[in-house]
Amino acid sequence: MQTTLEQLTVPIIGRISTPFKEKFAIPRQPGLVPSATGTIELTAEFSSPDACRGLENFSHIWLFFQFHQIPQGKWSALVRPPRLGGNQKMGVFATRSTHRPSNIGMSVVKLDSIESHQGKTFIEVSGVDLLDGTPIIDIKPYIQYVDAVQDANSSFAQSEPTKLPVMFSDAAKQQLQAHSIEYAHLNDLIIETLQFDPSPAYHARTQPSNRVYGVELAEFNVRWQRLDAGIKVIEISKA
Ligand code: SAM
Repeated sequence: MQTTLEQLTVPIIGRISTPFKEKFAIPRQPGLVPSATGTIELTAEFSSPDACRGLENFSHIWLFFQFHQIPQGKWSALVRPPRLGGNQKMGVFATRSTHRPSNIGMSVVKLDSIESHQGKTFIEVSGVDLLDGTPIIDIKPYIQYVDAVQDANSSFAQSEPTKLPVMFSDAAKQQLQAHSIEYAHLNDLIIETLQFDPSPAYHARTQPSNRVYGVELAEFNVRWQRLDAGIKVIEISKA
């Protein structure tokens, strides 16, 4: 069958390393977890320091990237945004769903530093919502007077998602203390990530309240329960 679909090929200008080793528990938007830092290593062809000259004067940058761990070319017109509890459908273009025709994502992140050494350029950022190893296809400066629209209507995503209190069991407190020697921001990273309750919304209706969840975060396996009082971290071990 002949198709009229036009395609576009874009270069991968770099890859980002982040603490998020699996899709589960990654924040749904940037800035929600300020302690989630990332390092973009530019691809050799684009690693000339000239390409980033002047970028260091911006506090925030846009990252455009490929949702590389989503089956490519597989999408549907209607999706179920987690913000709506997963039981209402919306048009894919009315959402930030990862299952979209282009598989392209966009995130505003804080620019921490730009360093060049041995012919390589590294861009340090924070507040990422990207999986470790995500291909970056473009970087642009965030320009406040155009990119921040005052009085904008953001429909069902008007405000930040609800935050839950995060507690630690006695054992987890001790483990946290021990691991914080090598990973100073581990406490903040865990709290900021889990406070948004990564478990799927329908689990609240279908799963026992003491169900244990686990995720690999940075170099650690973190296990927790979703209790009535909030999130309780029960174990932090080396991955
Ligand atoms: N801020 C971006 C946007 O609006 O385009 C991403 C929003 S999307 C809802 C965020 C989710 O994308 C994360 O929670 C994570 O599960 C998923 N994600 C991040 N990087 C990914 C990747 N490389 N491949 C597949 N899924 C990814």
